Amino acid sequence: MNPATELGLSADDLADLDVPPEVFTRLVGQVLPRIHEHLAALADAPACGDVHVPEQRAALAEEPIPEQGTALQDLLEPLFAEWIPASFTTPGPGYLAYVPGGGLLSSALADLIATTTNRYTGVWQAAPLLVQLEANALRWLAEGMALPGMERGLLTTGGSMANFSAIVAAREQRLGEHLREGVLYTSSQAHLCVTKSARLAGILPDRVRTIPVDARYGLRLDALREAIAADRAAGLRPFLVVSSAGTTNTGAVDPLDEIASLCEAEGLWHHVDAAYGGCFRFVPELRERLAGMERADSIAFDPHKGLFLPYGTGALLVRDARALRAAHAGTASYLPDPAAEALLDPAQDGPELSRDFRGLRLWLSLKLFGLERFRAALREKHELASRAAAQLAELPGFDMIAPPQLSLFAFQLRLDGDSLEQTNARTRALLEGVNARRRVYLTPCTDDAGRFLARVCVLSFRTRADRVEECLRDLREVAAELIG
Ligand SMILES: *Cc1c(COP(=O)(O)O)cnc(C)c1O
Repeated sequence: MNPATELGLSADDLADLDVPPEVFTRLVGQVLPRIHEHLAALADAPACGDVHVPEQRAALAEEPIPEQGTALQDLLEPLFAEWIPASFTTPGPGYLAYVPGGGLLSSALADLIATTTNRYTGVWQAAPLLVQLEANALRWLAEGMALPGMERGLLTTGGSMANFSAIVAAREQRLGEHLREGVLYTSSQAHLCVTKSARLAGILPDRVRTIPVDARYGLRLDALREAIAADRAAGLRPFLVVSSAGTTNTGAVDPLDEIASLCEAEGLWHHVDAAYGGCFRFVPELRERLAGMERADSIAFDPHKGLFLPYGTGALLVRDARALRAAHAGTASYLPDPAAEALLDPAQDGPELSRDFRGLRLWLSLKLFGLERFRAALREKHELASRAAAQLAELPGFDMIAPPQLSLFAFQLRLDGDSLEQTNARTRALLEGVNARRRVYLTPCTDDAGRFLARVCVLSFRTRADRVEECLRDLREVAAELIG
């Protein structure tokens, strides 16, 4: 018998778009067991699903427009059995690739509430108390990360959009109409979204300076100083430094305090891309590693990384809320008056008008669990990465190129006398061998010297000591096979 019929759902139950409560309860009742089953299987699921699915994709692309409704169970079956598994297992404990995301269930609750009550949080006037919840969550981020004076900002869809809005605000405040002379500085290790955002913000590639990094992959201050001087001598207008608090490649933290001093002396806006690393400011004893961040003009931080939220939540914190407002504000005859500058007003402080009520997933998660639980989890991730890196460094052949500053480290497998090509090939073989075991999923990067690096990033709230042990075991065993 069709499970939908079993649960007493018939086509008539969905005859109206306004689904009756008892029907909705039954629909949710069909989804929940699937979710539970999925989450319960995560620990044994391959750390990376099979994404080589050209035939299934081609078949799926033929899906016809649905003129009539379909029973929910019939949709859930392929979704959970076929489509979701053909993906990187991002919510799983073995996902140590890129910068892991999260997926706290508290956010699912919040999203259910936010989408069913569907209030409008684009403009302050439309839901002042709900917008205030977002403002509170932003303020808590600033307080939790010990960033006094940076309580204002914007919740975005991710770090890319947060970096983008920061660049736009800096450009508007520091360049005004002198767009073409403005020069932006960032390191060779900065995230792709920095140069992409610069382009979107009208800063052309010939006005973006890529500053080289030192042996720890941090931006070189001497090179930055020289580049600024050279641009001033050429009659250009240096206006912005985008530094990194935890790069995606190796987790490197730029010399934030020194860059802050240089920016102050030179009158430049200092934006810190802390999408990955900012979360470690929540842990008091790790704050020193991100010293100087509190002096920035703006900060991008990803709650969907460091606070374990599901994808789709980034945050921008700014020192001068008026700069953010000035860059994004606008009115129209069909809109209510903007809120006073002292108040968060998302459409006045950011590029979107209509938007989801993304503040609730952050607010509810922080309220439900309490910050101390997040702190403990972040402390644990840092310790797991630190211990793993220390153990690996002791093994023959393992060359710890970038020890963990936060919770990410990068290394090579190298034998004495190896050429760069040989080391790169060996490291690639190690990575492939470990990934083939499917208990953990690791992704590589290449540095400015052309070195192919294996990397481990511990940030998923589901990654615990047992899985990191498995990661070490697989690395040790595969390396032993490769170097005998
Ligand atoms: C993830 C990341 C970004 C981009 O953020 P999205 O949320 O993916 O848009 C930017 N910078 C760093 C350092 C990151 O780790």
